[in-house]
Order: sequence, then structure tokens, then C-alpha cells
Amino acid sequence: MPEPLTGRCLCGAVTFEIDRLSEGPVACHCRECQRQSGSAFWTAVTAAREAVRIAGERLGWVRLTQNAWRGFCRDCGGYLFWQPVQGDTLDIAAGAIDGIDGMKIEAHIFTAEARLPLPEDGAPRFPHGRKGID
Ligand SMILES: [Zn+2]
Ligand SMILES: [Zn+2]
Repeated sequence: MPEPLTGRCLCGAVTFEIDRLSEGPVACHCRECQRQSGSAFWTAVTAAREAVRIAGERLGWVRLTQNAWRGFCRDCGGYLFWQPVQGDTLDIAAGAIDGIDGMKIEAHIFTAEARLPLPEDGAPRFPHGRKGID
């Protein structure tokens, strides 16, 4: 996997670079991710916040839940980032990353909230968060 990874929203107004990942793609099936993404689940990678550079004046942040800020493009509406209020990590939408091809989903989380069948990809499944804290 080439690093830094680059990525952007659909219209290109918001771009980013990730120096290194701390976690590969994880698919979250929680209701919040379903509603925010408009899809059956949201797949994101995790990096240290300091390892990600974001550019673009059209980036907006919204705090819709107690635990996190969500970052999106004000022009195309692309949902790109999930940043916990407590902590120094950033989740980045896997679909917005240029070099995501060939990466495998490492885990499915919050599968207890899934409403559509899960992919049969062999990745471990967790009814809730992976560490019991999220
Ligand atoms: Zn955009
Ligand atoms: Zn979720």
C-alpha cells in the first residue's frame, strides 16, 4: 500500500493525505453510520489525527451525536471523516481514498444493528464495538 494515501470527496473540493494507517478498513453497521452514509454500512480506515492532512475550505464539521464530529464537503455532501470528541484518532471514509483498491475489510462492527445481509468476506464480526468501549 503506497503511503501517504491520498483521497478526496466526489467534487474534489476537499482533499486529504494519510501518512500511515493505524487500522485498515472496518465496516460499521450501526444505525448512525447507516443514516449518515445513506448506505447499509459505512467503511472507514483509522489513523492518528496528526497523520492526516486535510485541505479544502468547503470542509464542514457537524456534531450530531455526543461522541463525535463528522466532517463533510459543503459542496457535494460527501461524508468523509468521523472524529471522536475524546481521543486523537480520525476515521476516514474508505470509499474516498484513491489507493483503497485491493484492501480487505478487517472487521464488521455493530452487526447487531445491521438491517441488510452482511457480505460473506470472512472478516470477523462483532455485535458491538471491537473493544467493548465504542
Ligand atoms: Zn465535495
Ligand atoms: Zn457506526
